[in-house]
Amino acid sequence: MRVAGDAWRYPAETRGDVVVAIDGPAGAGKSTVARRVAERTGLRYLDTGATYRALTLGLLRRGVPPDDPAAVAEAARTIDLDLELDAAGRATVLLDGKPPGAELRSAEVNAAVSAVSAVPAVRQQLVALQRSLVGLGGIVAEGRDVGTVVWPDAEVKVYLTASEPERARRRAGDGNGGGESADALARRDRLDSSRATSPTRPADDAVVLDSTGRAVDQVVEEVLGRVAVARAERTR
Ligand code: C5P
Repeated sequence: MRVAGDAWRYPAETRGDVVVAIDGPAGAGKSTVARRVAERTGLRYLDTGATYRALTLGLLRRGVPPDDPAAVAEAARTIDLDLELDAAGRATVLLDGKPPGAELRSAEVNAAVSAVSAVPAVRQQLVALQRSLVGLGGIVAEGRDVGTVVWPDAEVKVYLTASEPERARRRAGDGNGGGESADALARRDRLDSSRATSPTRPADDAVVLDSTGRAVDQVVEEVLGRVAVARAERTR
């Protein structure tokens, strides 16, 4: 892992701080909620989905067929992936030493990422990369398996959902899914929640929050309340 600028001097009060896991299907509002919670708490931030997207992009660039699990498992080990923390504590994924930017959200990556993410060797590799961040202290991480697999001992676990029409509408509107269609989104969710290894599901001890019809700030406040309780418990 690379750490930029001042990040090693990340505020002492956040060292050994809480881990906040925010999981759920695409378009449930995870990114917005997780980013705001990270900003308000001073915790680091990681979008685990970006690591799966970057690996998928690396495979596509090398011409590896995403629906051939053996070829994916073999080639995944050769892809140069890393995480870089900026001075605000936000992790950016690096592919071949560079942030891939908008290409991460391309239609090609959207279409291939669920097949790549279903390969156990890929998950092993990326979970190790994701875990490398927490040695530095607390974090807010969003994804599909953060509370179940990556950090099963996270102090705060939230599973964020929203109705399917609302999720499709948000994804189409926020530019975050590259204008991903409702059908494509539903297909990705189906694949992610039915795969054998680390399917999308709430951890047994996660609080399930339905964001349908709720303002993002309301959800953020609810998560912040849970972080405050978890922090108080740590220092007791
Ligand atoms: O969160 P995002 O929609 O960017 O994730 C892209 C894809 O990465 C998901 O559809 C899923 O296949 C995979 N993913 C995963 N586990 C995670 C995060 C994302 O399998 N923790």
